[in-house]
Amino acid sequence: MRRWWPTVVAVGLVVAGCGGEPVAEHTPVLDPIVTVGIPPSASASSSPPPVATTTSTPPPVVIVLNPGHNGGNGGHPDEIARQVPAGAGKTKECDTTGTQTNAGYPEHAFTWDVTLRVRDALAIRGVTVVMTRENDTGVGPCVDERAAIANRSDAAAVVSIHADGSEAAGAHGFHVAYPLPALNEAQGEPSLRLATVLRDGLGKAGFAPANYIGQNGLDGRGDLAGLNLSEKPSVFVECGNMRDAADAGVLGSEDGKQRYAVAIATALMTYIGR
Ligand code: ZN
Repeated sequence: MRRWWPTVVAVGLVVAGCGGEPVAEHTPVLDPIVTVGIPPSASASSSPPPVATTTSTPPPVVIVLNPGHNGGNGGHPDEIARQVPAGAGKTKECDTTGTQTNAGYPEHAFTWDVTLRVRDALAIRGVTVVMTRENDTGVGPCVDERAAIANRSDAAAVVSIHADGSEAAGAHGFHVAYPLPALNEAQGEPSLRLATVLRDGLGKAGFAPANYIGQNGLDGRGDLAGLNLSEKPSVFVECGNMRDAADAGVLGSEDGKQRYAVAIATALMTYIGR
């Protein structure tokens, strides 16, 4: 915990330099951070500082979050239509615009919003999060580059976040796509286990599995570049069907997006054993 003190001093000095405020007035701002992990009795007692709590800190875990599509894709049709490697000897379009609700809420905005919530929930729990895009206004990156970003990382898990756009009447519910057939070891048991943990987590959170695709919320896919190219445990979460009125109501609501994010983050913590 000693390492925080230079930070406290530095912040105090900066503030003092700007406005001449006493340092002590600003230290309470950092109190919640400094006291994390220390029981109230420890700071009040005369026992030694709880050094042991820091030595048992587990090593950092990396999770890659891949928010589907991007807000600039629609304005750059040629750029996102170019063919890129999709794994298994195939090629595929660089990216697509994604779907939208009947009211016009676009999938890229949904995936971006939920991904940020998942990122924050994981970061608070000490997970290092890598994102495949930095905003919701750019173009791409292409599906092969998204996979490459994850492959270059030390990711324990890679989760692509999407929502579906089925026009079939009454089609609703979430599903989790996993690589099938597995083209390497990571695409096998680890990916299926990741998919199963996420499926179970979404189910526990009250979301219904899809009634139009896959089985019990799981769908093995051989046509998704992000899965075929992955060298890490990797899945796609299709949170619901944006074209279904009931699903769209949840997908477009603050409460719904928060519930998806908490369910996904909680399941990921289960998967990495934290
Ligand atoms: Zn999508």
